[in-house]
Amino acid sequence: MSEFDEKDKNQLEDKAQGTEEKEEEKKKEEKKESEYEDVCFICRRPESKAGKMFKLPNHISVCNDCMHKTMDTVSQFDYQGMLNNPSLMDDLNKNMGGKGFPNIRFVNIADLQGEGGIPNKQRIKKKKPKTGQEIVLDIKNIPPPHKIKAQLDDYVIGQEHAKKVISVAVYNHYKRVATGTLDDIEIEKSNMLMIGPTGSGKTYLVKTLARLLDVPLAITDATSLTEAGYIGDDIESVISKLLTAAGNDVEKAERGIVFIDEIDKIAKKKNTTSRDVSGESVQQGMLRLLEGADVEVPVGANSKNAMVPLATINTRNILFICGGAFPDLEEIIKQRLKKQTSIGFNAELKDKFDKEKDIISRVTVEDLKKFGMIPEFLGRLPIVYTLAALDKPMMVKILKEPKNAILKQYQKLLELDEVKLEFDEGALEAIADKAMEKDTGARALRAIIEEFMLDIMYEIPKDDNIGRVTITRAYIEGTGGPVIDIRSTSGENPDNLKMIEQK
Ligand code: ADP
Repeated sequence: MSEFDEKDKNQLEDKAQGTEEKEEEKKKEEKKESEYEDVCFICRRPESKAGKMFKLPNHISVCNDCMHKTMDTVSQFDYQGMLNNPSLMDDLNKNMGGKGFPNIRFVNIADLQGEGGIPNKQRIKKKKPKTGQEIVLDIKNIPPPHKIKAQLDDYVIGQEHAKKVISVAVYNHYKRVATGTLDDIEIEKSNMLMIGPTGSGKTYLVKTLARLLDVPLAITDATSLTEAGYIGDDIESVISKLLTAAGNDVEKAERGIVFIDEIDKIAKKKNTTSRDVSGESVQQGMLRLLEGADVEVPVGANSKNAMVPLATINTRNILFICGGAFPDLEEIIKQRLKKQTSIGFNAELKDKFDKEKDIISRVTVEDLKKFGMIPEFLGRLPIVYTLAALDKPMMVKILKEPKNAILKQYQKLLELDEVKLEFDEGALEAIADKAMEKDTGARALRAIIEEFMLDIMYEIPKDDNIGRVTITRAYIEGTGGPVIDIRSTSGENPDNLKMIEQK
């Protein structure tokens, strides 16, 4: 090692020692300081007299009284102007200092503030932008319909026809949005009307689609809408909801999806003499939105008033999907079909429609008109399709197959406790049977599972030895218990599980 290197090294070591000493001194000083009472920066009274102090940066303390007085004084002035003008503050202090108010200084709040203004601990952290949530389907470069459908298949069981129609419609819609309108041929908007019994997955299908496309979604219930000026939400409130869903980003909202559920409830009322404010007139009111119009909506609130800023949203590129169960529609279709067949050769086949299962899929615009939807409204929903009622095999599949299936969710939860959860095929069928009885589609499944999983979720974490739980048909039907397997002493390996208990 050369002489110079040695010298450098020594110097460095000295320096390091120096900084260490300084830090220790600082700590000692801090400790010493804390042995003294805090004194109010303004009135100079100590903590024992003035009470608890507000601690400001740079070791400044202000007592409760002075803080309030300062706040009151400041709020009466154009304090922004004052604070931004340090020389004015100095003058004030000079003028006031000698006269009238001994011990009282006007605090130049700008002096007290550290570099960043308000200390960080008094501020709410900004939400981090969500990362890791990748966009599965990019609407700017929309993938072909079969790819959209493949993504939907991961989540939505059955309903093949509906998924196909919706994939094509969404493909066309976002292609139209991305390319802008073609010069001469304006591509028609792909608004949809979705008909299917309750719990068949209408809302779920739309929700899944919006999530995959990463577009904002507003869901509203047609029954809550009334013509503007009447009690209830006015029709434009759905656009306001969409804007909220888009995080007040107008551009994003203009590419969103609006789902209006229970659309059958705004059918034209038959034989009514009163004003139909929640039926036909709501349909009338919606025409403008469906077609594409500029609407002014309140930002961050759901009613327009003087205090709320307004944003203008163009609904031309918003995809409207209406859904409903249309309960009596089957009768209307059957009647039409029967009338058709009663003329001519097929007269003898008249009653075959009574037995046909998926009669709803034969719906036509004429049937919907008869149901009470106005022609102009139907004209703006060019794509009409139906969802089938769920049968038992579909229910079983819904339980276990979708990417976020209910069973998978419970399995994941118990996995965190290192417990394996299994379901017998018989148990799944029993759950499906119970759900079918309730007649509310797949919605019943969760309620049923939650009911009997409650005990499992309560009991299992009590005992560390439990390694596996198997839910059986008997447990669902209330005639037996689940099969509990105990972890063998040798450890976590699930193969070492040995069954000891069968309640
Ligand atoms: P509705 O048709 O009345 O709008 P939902 O879409 O709200 O019914 O369905 C209720 C729940 O049932 C959904 O949250 C979803 O978990 C489940 N579900 C319904 N249909 C399906 C399906 N075809 N595939 C997977 N899950 C479904």
